[in-house]
Amino acid sequence: MKINAFEVALEQLINATEYMKLEPEIYEIMKEPMAQLTVRIPVRMDNGKVKIFTGFRFQHNTALGPTRGGTRFHSEETPEDVKALSLWMTLKNALNEIPNGGAKGGVIVDPRKLSQEELERLCRGYIRKIAPSIGAWKDFPGADIGTSAQTQSWMMDEWETMNMHHEASGISGKMIVLGGSEGRQEATSRGLLFATREMVRARELEMKGLTAVIQGFGKVGWHLAKLYQQDGVRVLAVSDVYSALYDPKGLDILDVYEYVERSGTLRGYPKAMEIGNQELLELECDILAPCAVQNVITGENALRIKAKFLIEGANGPTTPEAEEILINRGVFIAPDLWANSGGTIVAHFERVQNLHDDHWGEEKVNAKLEKINHKVFKEIYALHTEKNISMRLACWIKAISKVVEAMKARGWV
Ligand code: NAD
Repeated sequence: MKINAFEVALEQLINATEYMKLEPEIYEIMKEPMAQLTVRIPVRMDNGKVKIFTGFRFQHNTALGPTRGGTRFHSEETPEDVKALSLWMTLKNALNEIPNGGAKGGVIVDPRKLSQEELERLCRGYIRKIAPSIGAWKDFPGADIGTSAQTQSWMMDEWETMNMHHEASGISGKMIVLGGSEGRQEATSRGLLFATREMVRARELEMKGLTAVIQGFGKVGWHLAKLYQQDGVRVLAVSDVYSALYDPKGLDILDVYEYVERSGTLRGYPKAMEIGNQELLELECDILAPCAVQNVITGENALRIKAKFLIEGANGPTTPEAEEILINRGVFIAPDLWANSGGTIVAHFERVQNLHDDHWGEEKVNAKLEKINHKVFKEIYALHTEKNISMRLACWIKAISKVVEAMKARGWV
């Protein structure tokens, strides 16, 4: 049975607001997005017929500023997922010192089944339909599952064409030539690498010689696998939606990547064992990094997870029930709100550069990202140890406090 991500998010919100003893109206205002737009997008397909796609753009909370958040093109996208993701985005921005509220968007589509031309028409059609609620000072969509620098570039072009002026800051995750940031492609994974280093250091270990298993070999998973390997971590297994590859001696990540570039999937890679996605999560390893979809670590499989560190690349990969089991077994969890915030932070840097007509070098981007990642770690780790609470609850407390402060300053609550 598919676990409802929104129910999970609400349970997390209830836990945090109760722990913080907040007024009931804070839960009331935060439990739903402030605005929810559902659109129907007609797209002319290559065969001449028109197909109608359903899309969403939900803005969760605007107390801290205009909203930001990614756009998912996924065949199993649901409004409940978008609601959960928009709430998590509000908190992720608040936690990581980004002056924005949270939003999320998506289209129910499997982009791999579209031609490039159909995909471009869908991106443009999506922007035309959500146009009334987005913009550089309202809400700026970024990339997520199934979207890329190319889809973001088409979206920005459509947005600017509609507005009859340039407005690069209206869409993030664009190609560099159109105002995208250096380091954005790797940013989420680089943030995950920094997060892993902090966690490993806190346990007085070293990265070199550790082993890792990564679920998902898309934008986040692939770059993370490569960065881990550069740090001396042996990546034993990676997976995509079709297949999982395992080599107890460690995979040659660049070779795997080149194979995926040629064939479009991990399936059939000749130099490693093929296993199932479930089996992959339960492999013996030091670091497990789920970098695919939500709710993959549940009460059902948590007892069989053997990793010492769980680094949440995906948003919401661990259910509350699973988290309790893992914590009781001593697994050290780097929660999504902090661990995978690198992409959001660099998307914010992209906006700052766009608004200033500036362009930063990759070294500057990475150094600023590392500084924020480290500062937030120190704060949440201190709360986690002083109050003897989970790292996730520490993140939620810090983030909610900031949103509540802004809502109070505005007189909303
Ligand atoms: P992507 O589309 O580039 O890659 C997703 C990967 O997951 C692919 O390998 C795909 O085959 C695999 N996958 C999809 N459905 C699966 C399933 N049901 N089971 C197993 N594998 C599956 O997406 P991405 O940008 O790499 O995002 C991955 C995760 O990271 C998502 O949860 C996303 O919300 C989160 N995230 C992404 C960013 C970002 O900057 N892209 C930032 C923060 C968080």
